[in-house]
Amino acid sequence: MRDGMDERRKRQQQNGEKQNQKRKVGEARNQNREKQNLQKRSMADQKSQRQDKKGNSPKLPKTDATRAADACPYAKKCGGCDYQGMPYEQQLKEKQAFVQKNVGQFCKVHPIIGMDEPYHYRNKVHAVFDIDRKRGGNGKRRTNADRSRQAGSAARGGIISGVYKAGTHEVVNIDACQIEDELSDAIIRDIRGLLHSFKIKTYDEDTGYGLLRHVLVRRGFHSGEVMVVLVLGSPILPSKNNFVKALRKLHPEITTIIVNVNDKKTSMVLGEKETVIYGKGYIEDTLCGCTFRISPKSFYQVNPVQTEALYGKAIEYAGLTGKERIVDAYCGIGTIGIIAASGAKEVISVELNRDAVRDAVTNAKRNRIENIQFYNADAGKFMVEMAEYGRIEETRGNARTKGDGKRNGADVDVVFMDPPRAGSDEAFLSSVVKLSPKRVVYVSCNPETLSRDLKYLTKHGYEAVECQPVDMFPWTKHCECVALLQYKLKQA
Ligand code: SAH
Repeated sequence: MRDGMDERRKRQQQNGEKQNQKRKVGEARNQNREKQNLQKRSMADQKSQRQDKKGNSPKLPKTDATRAADACPYAKKCGGCDYQGMPYEQQLKEKQAFVQKNVGQFCKVHPIIGMDEPYHYRNKVHAVFDIDRKRGGNGKRRTNADRSRQAGSAARGGIISGVYKAGTHEVVNIDACQIEDELSDAIIRDIRGLLHSFKIKTYDEDTGYGLLRHVLVRRGFHSGEVMVVLVLGSPILPSKNNFVKALRKLHPEITTIIVNVNDKKTSMVLGEKETVIYGKGYIEDTLCGCTFRISPKSFYQVNPVQTEALYGKAIEYAGLTGKERIVDAYCGIGTIGIIAASGAKEVISVELNRDAVRDAVTNAKRNRIENIQFYNADAGKFMVEMAEYGRIEETRGNARTKGDGKRNGADVDVVFMDPPRAGSDEAFLSSVVKLSPKRVVYVSCNPETLSRDLKYLTKHGYEAVECQPVDMFPWTKHCECVALLQYKLKQA
């Protein structure tokens, strides 16, 4: 699944849609309208707050998703939005056709759930900082390329912030983005404006001089909590307390500020070391009625409105009765398993990222969920152990041999799997087949790898029943899906 922002290039294809597609897409979007109105209101609030404070707001396309959208002023240089200039209805058709092409051969594909207001949905915003080289930063001469990349206005001291131009390490200066949370963009612009007076230099990737590399802002959609992560090339932020004070004066909405140190020559944004310089070091947000802790590094879906639609569908597909033993694989900070736990007997969750597991354990406690356990492991290896040795059973002293004599693995009724873009692996899938849970609910951010994995599972005893695409990443070609598989030899 994951955040489409970082990986979006190759363009998508053809349109194999039926005439009534438009109507169906419209119906699916209506279902989602109520939730999105909430977002609309919150966006309007942010906007008026920002305009009150600054008296002006950056020019962005009007929010009329049915006509061809005006091109974003940064489109050519940024290259982040694959579907720039394409009406939203058409974007949904493209995605529907892509999912149909990849998954349609296995099962029915429902009309995609789109957004009513497909703007400013990203609740995680990242900006890289640099210097406008025409002003003599690093002593380099300004080229035409330098000139053309300046779309936003550089702050005092020639400081710019934004995204890397596609395929380069050239920073495109961005004031506001049509898919990013507007408050987060305003915070980033204001940090840009503060740096000069605090004598904070931006980091130079070539020489390793300077301090500020990136800023990451995450915002809780329901809670309104805001986290700012300052990624520095070395650990000391001069006048730290005054900087915090100045930033919070501009944005009292900020609830926590963290310094992350990344002193490596790397394309990774965040380094290992972190110091909390204001607040509690994380934010919380609610999703499907549960509360989740989000740390700087943990994965959390970037589109809160659509995530609720996606997870709601995943839970529905699981068909829980209260008696099930569930595996939640690739569980991140525990979201799906925690939401499902109250409807099941027990949940076993597995995740590779240690920080995410730590958050997951806290999240379970925070929601008073006791029938869930988390394992920090590779999901494939973990499932092999479960399938081969019933390791989970053994550790509790009640290892079982199945009556059918085929295997000694643990009993599992439902597997939720939500792997990264690369999809799952054979170790995992073959173990699912061995454990033969009645239902597999596959959440995927990549219809191509979903198709590959469905091929494996349908060859080995499973039947794909249905698939629901959800548009989590408007303006990009990325599309999320949730698919239900049922074990053919057992009745669900
Ligand atoms: N289900 C979660 C997270 C999905 S993102 C949610 O909806 O929020 C995919 C997750 O898979 C990430 O948290 C990533 O750290 C994890 N992951 C990637 N490779 C893995 C592996 N081999 N084994 C276990 N987890 C893995």
